[in-house]
Amino acid sequence: AVKLKAVSKSFGDSLVLNDISLSLATGSFTALLGPSGCGKTTLLRLIAGFEQPSTGAVVFDGVTMADGKHSVPPEKRSVGIVFQSYALWPHMSVAGNVAYPLKGLGLSRETIRARVDEALAMVALRGFGDQHVDSLSGGQRQRVALARCLVNGTKLILLDEPLANLDVHLRASMLDVFADIHQRTGATIVFVTHDQSEALALADTVVVLDGGRIQQSGRPETIYAEPANAMVAGFVGDGR
Ligand code: ATP
Repeated sequence: AVKLKAVSKSFGDSLVLNDISLSLATGSFTALLGPSGCGKTTLLRLIAGFEQPSTGAVVFDGVTMADGKHSVPPEKRSVGIVFQSYALWPHMSVAGNVAYPLKGLGLSRETIRARVDEALAMVALRGFGDQHVDSLSGGQRQRVALARCLVNGTKLILLDEPLANLDVHLRASMLDVFADIHQRTGATIVFVTHDQSEALALADTVVVLDGGRIQQSGRPETIYAEPANAMVAGFVGDGR
């Protein structure tokens, strides 16, 4: 499991996350929901290791990743992260982008090729390896970013509003891709969104964040049926 233990995060005088305790079960699919600016991205960046907690600890399977004094760097956490903007290398081919995390690991060309092909197949982009990223649609780029995060077999995938730049049709097909990947890899997935209908479609756990605090967490149906307070009711209430 991934655990945040009483994590707070301040930037200067501004307390962005306030005493967050959260456990993500191995293999769970969590939707992290909340209004703009509530600290969702900051929470993901803390899990990935791009930010350090001001107080509290981040623990993966019993191993402390960060506790305010020490921190394991992002590249040693085996976390895959897909941002809202795709953050791909535009001058490289699809295969070049996907293979990027495998650089410097001393793998043979054949192994790299096989791993890239496998990752592209998982996101339904088999045969796209030689294309340039520039020639792809938004949904295809999003899938390249996802393949890049799958290529090193990561078991923790963080998705930061991955559907935000896609049209309605692409959103639906990307939700299928995420569901399929979750099923096939058994990875622990955290999906950040401010759109609760996306959250409802896929998640087994919903965490609602507002004002830097967890307002409620639990199974989606519980949150819809028994919102803990007016904020949660207002935010998720009209979703069905
Ligand atoms: P959105 O849905 O709009 O992406 P969010 O819930 O992901 O929002 P965050 O990006 O985590 O919110 O930001 C939470 C707050 O922390 C915001 O007020 C933001 O301005 C502030 N913040 C985030 N990163 C930094 C930083 N590096 N320095 C200063 N303030 C920051």
